[in-house]
Amino acid sequence: MKYFSTRGNSEALNFIDVLTSGTAKDGGLYVPENFPKFSKEEIADFETASYQDLASHLLYPYVEGFLSKDDFEQVVKNAYESFTIPEVVKLVETKNIGYVLELFHGPTGSFKDLALQLLPRLIGAVMKSDQRSLYVVATSGDTGGAVANGFLGVEGVKVVILYPKGKVSEIQEKQLTTLGQNISALEVDGVFDDCQEMVKNAFLDASLSSVQLTSANSINIGRWLPQMFYYFIAYRALKYKNKKLVFSIPSGNFGNICAGIMSQQMGLPINHFVASTNVNDTVPRYLKTANYEPLPTKQTVSN
Ligand SMILES: *Cc1c(COP(=O)(O)O)cnc(C)c1O
Repeated sequence: MKYFSTRGNSEALNFIDVLTSGTAKDGGLYVPENFPKFSKEEIADFETASYQDLASHLLYPYVEGFLSKDDFEQVVKNAYESFTIPEVVKLVETKNIGYVLELFHGPTGSFKDLALQLLPRLIGAVMKSDQRSLYVVATSGDTGGAVANGFLGVEGVKVVILYPKGKVSEIQEKQLTTLGQNISALEVDGVFDDCQEMVKNAFLDASLSSVQLTSANSINIGRWLPQMFYYFIAYRALKYKNKKLVFSIPSGNFGNICAGIMSQQMGLPINHFVASTNVNDTVPRYLKTANYEPLPTKQTVSN
């Protein structure tokens, strides 16, 4: 499987290279050349699969050729050792609005755990032994904790997390700052946008060109590929599979909804997606007006 830039002007890369790079040189994002399709019958077979088996099955076509099937399955097994269904991905029926998919039962309480327990181990497995990588990430709380927890102790990898002073919760600050080892957290006297700006500038900084700098934000395919598993798990937990299925997905960088749409491309019978945003509505405004006009992020009850 090759990966292409969405803008079409960068060279196609293989899985290892996209995993350890950020955005494409032409400014696009890397996407797989195609989406492996699963038939209705195959999807029905997923009904009883464990989290580990489901993950291996869905993801292997994307990594084939770079890791042997046995090695890959071992990585997935280790990453998701404690993940059981329905404890980790729980579909809860509500009185009025259908179902809510609870994704906060991972180690740091953020749904980002579901991908970030796997990504660092995959990177550890595909990196050459003399390779060194520096991951930088800006966080408003959820991402940093999940990144820190997932990358802790991965050899050859250092992680630097930038977070805005006074803007993350106390427990999240502890998740970022108390692990040590290969995880460093920097408190920035500013808001989240300042942290994001510093990360962007680091990528453009010529004096850092000797460091292999990689983003752990949601532009990394290793972040959103593993987010498709729980769409399959939600589907299998539904009582009435003949009804039209609609997902409404709280969106920030739209990585989560992208993974959902990918699971649809792979054969999951999803009828419709709603991309929900809060007051930070740069993307809906862009879609409406074709003007990309980011405004300063407003703090809301949802980080
Ligand atoms: C990260 C996050 C989002 C946004 O996810 P994207 O993949 O960036 O769209 C929404 N809600 C919560 C609680 C999050 O942690």
